[in-house]
Amino acid sequence: MTTRRLFIQIVPVSGAVLLAACSDKAPPPAAAPPAAPAPNPAPAPAPAAAPAAAPPAAALGPMVDEKEAAAVALGYVADAARVDKAKYPKYAPGQACGNCALYQGVAGAAAGPCPLFAGQQVSAAGWCGSYVKKTG
Ligand code: SF4
Repeated sequence: MTTRRLFIQIVPVSGAVLLAACSDKAPPPAAAPPAAPAPNPAPAPAPAAAPAAAPPAAALGPMVDEKEAAAVALGYVADAARVDKAKYPKYAPGQACGNCALYQGVAGAAAGPCPLFAGQQVSAAGWCGSYVKKTG
């Protein structure tokens, strides 16, 4: 009798285990244990730093003089409307330092730095033959 009872108890369990082992389906994930409350809540994040203020225009250096050798060599003009289109056929209306990839001025500023004229500022409305359209 004991053997028969034991057999009846074991067969359903072992059958379920065998079916699970032979199944190609992944077993259902075990239920995640309930999350224990954190003993110490995380400290509040530090307030975001205020955006850095733009440096004063004078700190960015003097404006590039169109007549200086580097400016002449690059075809820089402070107003893109005055680009020599015969000499720089790649110029297209709308191109200006302000939307050039090399321009480092603050958006909306009238002028800003350009690595081609270190220590000086170019006009946001200017242009030179090294213009590269800013993307993104
Ligand atoms: Fe202006 Fe760009 Fe030329 Fe610099 S490289 S002077 S930002 S057009």
